Amino acid sequence: MYHLSSPPVLAEANLPFERMKSFCTQLTKMVQEMRKCIVETQEMHNRQLECMQRERDAAILTVTQLEQEQSINSNCIPPGSIHANKKCANCNREALAECSLCRRTPYCSTFCQRKDWITHQNECVRSTQEPTHQIMLIVDETQ
Ligand SMILES: [Zn+2]
Ligand SMILES: [Zn+2]
Repeated sequence: MYHLSSPPVLAEANLPFERMKSFCTQLTKMVQEMRKCIVETQEMHNRQLECMQRERDAAILTVTQLEQEQSINSNCIPPGSIHANKKCANCNREALAECSLCRRTPYCSTFCQRKDWITHQNECVRSTQEPTHQIMLIVDETQ
């Protein structure tokens, strides 16, 4: 009769292991749930990132377009206003160049600058207070 009482004792002895096994199963389920949760959150996060990226790209595009429009506008204004104010000091035509020494007197060409140099050199030297031969770039005094 003694051996009949032994199986329940064994079962009882195994009970902690059975509990641990079921606990492990529960843990595994929980881990799987968590993993699923993390993956879902990550997907959501990625979708939000994509959304933000798209919004940012759109914003950058808008800014770039605005900047381009502004630069086009600002490029459109100067040719009329600035160049119209600059007239060759010698022949009074539209001046595209200027005295490279004083950068204040406009000329249409080096020809006009040379012709005007005799009168211009006085005020040019006066305004810069620098020796002419060192920085004179356009006028060639040997010619
Ligand atoms: Zn000229
Ligand atoms: Zn000058």
